[in-house]
Amino acid sequence: KARVYNFGNKTADGNSQMKNLLGGKGANLAEMSALGIPVPPGFTITTEVCTAYNELGKEAVIDMIKSDVEASIRTIEKTMGAEFGSKENPLLVSVRSGARVSMPGMMDTVLNLGLNDEVVLGLAERTGNPKFAWDSYRRFIQMYGGVVLGMKPESKDDIDPFEEIMEHLKEKRGITLDTEFSIQDLKDLVYDFKDAVKKRTGHDFPTNPWDQLWGAVIAVFNSWNGDRAVYYRTMHGYPADWGTAVNVQAMVYGNMGDNSATGVCFTRDAGTGENVFNGEYLINAQGEDVVAGVRTPQQITKLGSERWAELAKVDEEERAQTYPSLEEVMPELYKELDGIQKKLETHYRDMQDMEFTIQDGKLWILQTRNGKRTGAAMVKIAIDQLHEGLISDKEALLRIEPNKLDELLHPVFDPKALKQAHVIAQGLPASPGAATGKIVFFADEADKFKNSILVRIETSPEDLEGMHVAKGILTARGGMTSHAAVVARGMGKCCISGAGALKINYKARTLSVDGHEYHEGDWISLNGSTGNIIEGKVATKEPELSGEFAKLMKLSDKFRDMQVRTNADTPNDAAIARSFGAEGIGLTRTEHMFFEVDRIKAMREMILADTVKGRKEALNELLPMQRSDFEGIFEAMEGLPVTIRLLDPPLHEFVPHTLVAQKELADDMHISVEAVKNKVSELSEFNPMLGHRGCRLGNTYPEITEMQTRAIIEAALNLKAKGVISKPEIMVPLVGTVAEFEAQEKVIRATAEKVFEERQDNIEFTVGTMIEVPRATLMADLIAEKADFFSFGTNDLTQMTFGYSRDDAGKFLPIYIEKGILKADPFEVLDQEGVGQLVKLGTERGRSSKPKLKVGVCGEHGGEPSSVEFFYNSGLDYVSCSPYRVPIARLVAAQAAI
Ligand code: ADP
Ligand code: MG
Ligand code: MG
Repeated sequence: KARVYNFGNKTADGNSQMKNLLGGKGANLAEMSALGIPVPPGFTITTEVCTAYNELGKEAVIDMIKSDVEASIRTIEKTMGAEFGSKENPLLVSVRSGARVSMPGMMDTVLNLGLNDEVVLGLAERTGNPKFAWDSYRRFIQMYGGVVLGMKPESKDDIDPFEEIMEHLKEKRGITLDTEFSIQDLKDLVYDFKDAVKKRTGHDFPTNPWDQLWGAVIAVFNSWNGDRAVYYRTMHGYPADWGTAVNVQAMVYGNMGDNSATGVCFTRDAGTGENVFNGEYLINAQGEDVVAGVRTPQQITKLGSERWAELAKVDEEERAQTYPSLEEVMPELYKELDGIQKKLETHYRDMQDMEFTIQDGKLWILQTRNGKRTGAAMVKIAIDQLHEGLISDKEALLRIEPNKLDELLHPVFDPKALKQAHVIAQGLPASPGAATGKIVFFADEADKFKNSILVRIETSPEDLEGMHVAKGILTARGGMTSHAAVVARGMGKCCISGAGALKINYKARTLSVDGHEYHEGDWISLNGSTGNIIEGKVATKEPELSGEFAKLMKLSDKFRDMQVRTNADTPNDAAIARSFGAEGIGLTRTEHMFFEVDRIKAMREMILADTVKGRKEALNELLPMQRSDFEGIFEAMEGLPVTIRLLDPPLHEFVPHTLVAQKELADDMHISVEAVKNKVSELSEFNPMLGHRGCRLGNTYPEITEMQTRAIIEAALNLKAKGVISKPEIMVPLVGTVAEFEAQEKVIRATAEKVFEERQDNIEFTVGTMIEVPRATLMADLIAEKADFFSFGTNDLTQMTFGYSRDDAGKFLPIYIEKGILKADPFEVLDQEGVGQLVKLGTERGRSSKPKLKVGVCGEHGGEPSSVEFFYNSGLDYVSCSPYRVPIARLVAAQAAI
């Protein structure tokens, strides 16, 4: 099998299907080349070679690919009419990483490779542009030094050693931009850079182009195992053995003067999804300059430039003069670029994110990939492309990453609160959303506060972990395609970039704007949709399901045949879930209602009562409260089924544990503190989760079940009198034997009959059970003969199947996951292999005696995509999840059915 694949000159050995072998970048460079798009020629060393390198080491791997690489360099030389290492007519190359999925900025790239003190003279002469040649040389030493020779900042508030040298020189010369250096300045920089390398590493900077090449190739392989890449991989669950490919490609130069440029562009808006071509560029610059935020780039389209000017409050004359778009500056090249972006989107049938460089009036495309986007953009683009006929309805659904919908389901700023907000400055709306938190200035301190906003001059790949932790990101420099902006959109995190009015002082840990100073720990809020930076905290409100999102949900419902219900304990939660499309309640936990201040007292009296009579009295106090709760929930879910679980947790959870609270209770009940204390210790259990709880409560204190049943039935009858239909499903928790269920069922049905008698009216209701004790899954056929429905309680079922106490698992689960003993937290992601067998078995056995048995699932897993898919494949009738996960479950159910 080939280890090196060539591309360029309108041909290619590989294609876009070969991402696993060639990496995303290499596969797409090959595809573009074959499509006839102008791509500088080059070759890709496969990911398999990277894996071999990790096993065999440097020497063996160089041996393995040496002749192939040399032959491929010869091919590039022929296409470009230049020679690698030649002094007269030098070929320079870039050495670029590229894993099978894009990991923006996570791994390393070296540009302008092949230069040394002699070759630079040749390049200057050949191009007639010594300034360009020396600028390229100083860039090369800088990048090679950082990537290959480890010339990085030594501590976090230190700056890059090369940047430091450049800053000094700029000060000395009284200039601010890199482009203002004279030829002599650039020569001095090269000298100083090499000197710094020698001082720090003890070695001379390598002069032989081939040595440089192999050094860079190996460094790219190594970057796969660098801290940043490892963190990114772990975060996304990408295995270590994927490896990265290495792309070696002829350089094209965006830094040759004012007829050259470089930029990044998107076929649609990655923040909002709007179907407008957009992007940024810099005249006389090389690739990294745009992303790194060294200079603030300008807009590619006139529309983008105008929109930018509006935000920045710059008038048309100034805009056209100072911030003209590529469309205005280089109209012909813009037209060509626009044609290519259209062609690429149609070809790949998805939004593209592209890199381009203009060398002396000629356009080259350096990269294309499916663009990262926010959740909102993901939905809008999929629905728009469906309407445009670019993709089918099934494809539109499959384009949606379920977990990314989460972003659309979070609170947004309350418009009323926004009106009163004090806007302190404005930046670019780099990634939409609402974020409010306390200021931190360093990524590794983002977890200092529960809600933090990371404020940086600019971000770099090292900041990834902190960006993940922060609620929002604010930078003073950089454009819409800066590192901060791209990464934030990928994470779905609110981000404002390029807020030039901010003065950030890392040492003093302050942020000042217009003479006002803000400190670490001060609250600020970011509106990522407008770019407004707001002082203090701003109130938020619930999101709405509308526009494209509503269309997506409608489309999901067309393909979905599993129902989605919600877990809700209050009318408010029920109403939210219903607005998100819940088709009923799969779990109402009645105990949550008892924790409210005015109720806990009656609850405690019930628990402390020594006699049935005392208990009944206390329960009578609770009855009207429960009844009104149920009325509220039934009303919110009018006409839809509502599953109510009878009291489940151990009673010990309800009693007071502090002496003060125990005294208070004793006074209220006119008994001694001793009596309260005794009762509390009597109730304490060694293993509460396996103790006196679930139906064991109802079976030992049937009066509790009686009261709860009465509250449910009376609530339904009260609503019926008002013309509101309710469909209660009474659910018995923690059943392990048929008799346990039967005993509860008897109490429930007898109580219901009694209420019907009293009211001379009736309603329909069902009585079912949770299946959460492993024994119940084994006995499911017998239990199903009695129960009207099953609902898998996968939390307890996981707890009891693994024998992991949920409340204690925090001590070992993270270590198990780190060591690979477990792949994922089984309380988050259903263990399909083990616990999943019990779900399947319970369903099959249950339906063997009652073929139409309704079976559902409640618990955390009901909203987790991979688990939902499993439940669908196991033939469940519904999943039930928290209100905010309902749209996600609806989508996954549709994806599973396609
Ligand atoms: P990343 O994956 O971090 O984006 P890239 O390999 O894409 O790294 O390269 C970094 C920058 O250098 C990009 O802007 C890219 O366009 C530019 N670049 C890479 N190779 C070349 C080349 N052969 N000629 C000109 N610019 C290049
Ligand atoms: Mg790139
Ligand atoms: Mg349970």
